[in-house]
Amino acid sequence: MSSKYLPTIGIETHVQLNTKTKLFAAVGNDAREVAPNTLISHICVGMPGALPVLNEGAIKLSAAAALALGTAPQKLSHFERKHYFYPDLPKGYQITQYQAPIIVGGHLHIDNNGQKKCIRIERANLEEDAGKNTHPAGADYSLVDLNRAGTPLLEIVSRPDLNSPAEAKAYARELWLLMKYAGVTDGDLYHGHVRFDVNISLSKDPDKLGTRSEIKNLNSFRSVEGAVTYEIERQTELLEKGQPVVQETRGWDEVQQKSVSQRSKEEAEDYRYMPEPDVPPVELDDKYIEDIEKQMPELPPKIRQELAKIKFDSKVIEDILDRPEAVALILKVLDTADSEATRRTAFWVLQSAGNPANLKADKVVELSKMVDDGKLSSTAGKTIFEEMIKSPETPDKIAKRLKLVQVSDESEIEKIVAEVITQNPKAAEDVKAGQAKAIGFLVGQVMAKSKGQANPEVAQKLIKKQLGG
Ligand code: MN
Repeated sequence: MSSKYLPTIGIETHVQLNTKTKLFAAVGNDAREVAPNTLISHICVGMPGALPVLNEGAIKLSAAAALALGTAPQKLSHFERKHYFYPDLPKGYQITQYQAPIIVGGHLHIDNNGQKKCIRIERANLEEDAGKNTHPAGADYSLVDLNRAGTPLLEIVSRPDLNSPAEAKAYARELWLLMKYAGVTDGDLYHGHVRFDVNISLSKDPDKLGTRSEIKNLNSFRSVEGAVTYEIERQTELLEKGQPVVQETRGWDEVQQKSVSQRSKEEAEDYRYMPEPDVPPVELDDKYIEDIEKQMPELPPKIRQELAKIKFDSKVIEDILDRPEAVALILKVLDTADSEATRRTAFWVLQSAGNPANLKADKVVELSKMVDDGKLSSTAGKTIFEEMIKSPETPDKIAKRLKLVQVSDESEIEKIVAEVITQNPKAAEDVKAGQAKAIGFLVGQVMAKSKGQANPEVAQKLIKKQLGG
């Protein structure tokens, strides 16, 4: 990549709000796993005369988003109509916020391999989603599904403070984490509940921006990074050849890892914005905002600080944050037990594919203590943790049922050691001669004879004692 040009990157993110119902209609909001056109009403299909009613839940979540972004929601915001002509938008316009969005300003911090940077937020507006068109292969018709029409979105626009593919990726992930932990969205990237539009331009002069292109609808952090990388290369090539970069909207081909031109970019005047007469302005008072502030859950920056207290390295901390369903458990263990128990819990969580959201911290602490006390090997601890996700039994009961209780009682292990030594005279001689490998072999024999239940440390100690090693 040529370093002659400075990339300037801004990201617009559409975050699907985690409300029960749509932005302006009392119709279910979760379009996953339902038949097409079953989550619709006269409002969603844009029947003449249908009146939208604003969902207060969307305002609450937008306020939480503002707080997560280090600012407060605007006390006064209102809605406009933005005109499009698409089959998946039956009204012919989208209700959105243009002049007075619910969030103005804010910021978040990214950490790009140790390089910290503050990324400013320009604004965020509430708006409704459109439906979905599908074009069956070979058919001479298209299908329209309006289940998604009217789903509440928060469109969060960053300032162009990003300057590399890695920074763009770090921003996308950090914004996703903040919105997920704040409860603003369920964060389902697979179903497009968080989608990124990336604006990129190149310039030789840092004070003057080049012409930008926009890659729309990226739905993973990896594709954000890939699209920015590709666009920097594409635009560099154009500029090197003396050709202009066209201001346009491009799509991202995930398989070929390249962007493709879709349409030239509309300007604001093309949308013919006008005030939305059917939805009154939103007014929030201090009390409303304070109440939401009081209910804010812990967010990633604070969780990182807590986990750093017990000297987890930053890679482990980020891995933990990628498992939001498990974070509450780990923090509860950290709160009630020692750092060893927390370290073990985190390790078990990261090793497990199961969802430990319903595990009780005190039971996990109990399990950790059994490992501490030598009642369980660390391998057995991991197996029992996995079992606890599926079963309400106590760790002690599971250990007994699965015959995983470790025997540390010397008199019991002594008998097995004596037998093993008698049966393996050659290895016993080797141990006496000081061969380290042979002792490992004998410990293995003791483990096998005890069906894995002997404490290997105790076994080793007793072998040495009997053979004088
Ligand atoms: Mn939008």
